[in-house]
Amino acid sequence: MTNASKPETAESAPASNASPRPRFLLREMRSSCATQRIWKWTLPAFAGRLPDGRTYNTCPSAGICKDLCYARTGTFRFSNVLRAHQNNLQYVLDEPQAWEEQMTEELKHPRYHPKGSPAHVRVHDSGDFFHEDYLEAWLRIFRATPDVVFYSYTKMVELFERRVRPDPPANFRYRYSYGGTQDELIVPGRNHADVFPDEESLEAAGYTSQAPSDLRGAYGPETLGIPANNIAQYKRRQGSSTFRALQRAANAEKRARQEKRNGPASRRPKAD
Ligand code: SF4
Repeated sequence: MTNASKPETAESAPASNASPRPRFLLREMRSSCATQRIWKWTLPAFAGRLPDGRTYNTCPSAGICKDLCYARTGTFRFSNVLRAHQNNLQYVLDEPQAWEEQMTEELKHPRYHPKGSPAHVRVHDSGDFFHEDYLEAWLRIFRATPDVVFYSYTKMVELFERRVRPDPPANFRYRYSYGGTQDELIVPGRNHADVFPDEESLEAAGYTSQAPSDLRGAYGPETLGIPANNIAQYKRRQGSSTFRALQRAANAEKRARQEKRNGPASRRPKAD
């Protein structure tokens, strides 16, 4: 994988640094809103540093969400949990082909092929499709495992519009989530999710709550609302706004600062 979203010094890690491989890459989701068995794949949220010193950013399109991110607090920060998620990332970065092969092979296991209904895999309960090569690997995995249903939230709008929307795998359901730097690329009518202060405010806005089942991320209507997690400092910071509104305000502030510095865009000389 190459480009700016890749950790700064992640060209290759010596074999001796390789992370131990868990027998199963996917974990069962434990959540009050997981009404049936759902498996998940997790990366560490946003930016950090691997134990070998490399820095990373798994959410290159994160905007205001990074300051209100449930996956940057609580149990996600326990050292054993963070280390497990970093191991996942390290495996993808250092041995992408081996990771892809293991994931594809693992998905043949009977636990992902229950009788009756298909198995569901949520790709990322934190982190995002941080690099085009990584997304391409997942697209190959989806197509190699047509009996499993995969779903994701993503803020990588430009990448998905370009690489996924024209030819999406039949077993992959995705939805854009507001609060990222590419919010303005989300076209009305696309499946999306916004984080609201509470159930009442999302209902008042005509959204359907995700709370009863995580699978609403896959099968829910175009307008899915997520009530904010009960994390006191985040709730205070979010106030009565949605992530979409907070991001819009942040974008407007940024533009105002730029205009103050450079003058209005219309008066700036055009490049040849
Ligand atoms: S994109 Fe998701 S995981 Fe990443 S910082 Fe934002 S809320 Fe957290």
